Formats: sequence, structure tokens, C-alpha cells
Amino acid sequence: MWTRHRRIDFSDVDYPGTLFRADAANFRIPPTPRQIKYIIIHITGGPAQDEGPAINTFRHGPASAHYIVNRQGHVTQFVRDAHIANHVDNINSATNRDSIGIEHVNQWSHGIHMRPTHRQYEASARLVAWLCQRYNIPIVHDTRRHAPGIRGHIEEQPHSGHTACPNPAWDWHSYISLVQNIQVPNLDAFIASLARDPFPME
Ligand SMILES: [Zn+2]
Repeated sequence: MWTRHRRIDFSDVDYPGTLFRADAANFRIPPTPRQIKYIIIHITGGPAQDEGPAINTFRHGPASAHYIVNRQGHVTQFVRDAHIANHVDNINSATNRDSIGIEHVNQWSHGIHMRPTHRQYEASARLVAWLCQRYNIPIVHDTRRHAPGIRGHIEEQPHSGHTACPNPAWDWHSYISLVQNIQVPNLDAFIASLARDPFPME
């Protein structure tokens, strides 16, 4: 059982399209402001169809991430962008130091091979377009470790146990073009208006 995360306080989030805020137990505040160089895409795996288990996991640690996108396309922020989350290797890893980690609720286990939903891809693409604009990250799928851009967990850490995170569930080609095609003159205002527009819960 998990309790629904609280309604959002906009002074306590970075991405204006965030719909919910929850706290992660394990994160680190860097001694000097960090430079965010790349974005790491994750899927949750496991049988869950909502973000509840991930929220519970992150509340207790040691794992955490900055954001999670659920299958309806709702975004929850756990860790502030300026802070370091523990989504690859360990809290002190170079990857965590320089990246933003985004989880996506998606089952991929025991022969059940599920794909992210369109809403999820679209919401994630808006989030990543915004992050890339704000932190000056190139919108490219660059699979080289520590390179500026966007890549999957398994690409950043090929020898981890997370063998399906997020490949092969993730459609990189469509995803990157989705991110590239989000070009809004005032992205912050646009995304904030989307977030405030209550769309039907599914
Ligand atoms: Zn992962």
C-alpha cells in the first residue's frame, strides 16, 4: 500500500509540468553547483502499472531518481535538479554527479514485454526538451558514457544488472524525434499551462 504523494507546491519543483512531488530518502547536495551534462532514461521493470512501488522504494532508498513518468503521462519530481540522485551505480558515481535520472513506469519481466505508452513518451519528451533547453544539453541519443546528450541506463552502465533498462523496451528513434520536435518559444509558460489544465485521469 502506498499513500498518494501530495499535491504540488510549485516553489518546490523545477520542471513546470510536474504534477506531483514526493521526497526521496537518498540524494546528495553537491558542495558547489553542479553542471548537468546528460540525461539518463530508466524503466521501472517489474509488474507494477503505476508509480506506487517506485515511490515507496525511493522514499526508503538507497535508489532514487529526479523524476518518474507514469503510464498516463503524469510527472512526479523526487529530487531537485540541482541535487544528486542515486539512479546509476552509487550516490557518489560520476554519472549521478553529472546527470538527471528519469524513471518510466513500464513492465518488462518474465516474458512480459511491455512498451511505454504514447502519453508517457510525449510527457517524457516535454520534460526532456525542457531540461535540455534549461541545461544546454544536446538533444541527441549519444550512447557513449558521460557524453553530453540522452542515453539509457544500460548504455551508461553496460555491466549493471539492469539489462532491460530501458532497452529494448524503449523506442529511441521516435523518442528523440519527439523531443527534437518540441520547439515552443516560451516553453516554461507552455508547459505550465499544460500542467494546470486538468486532463482526465485514466
Ligand atoms: Zn535503470
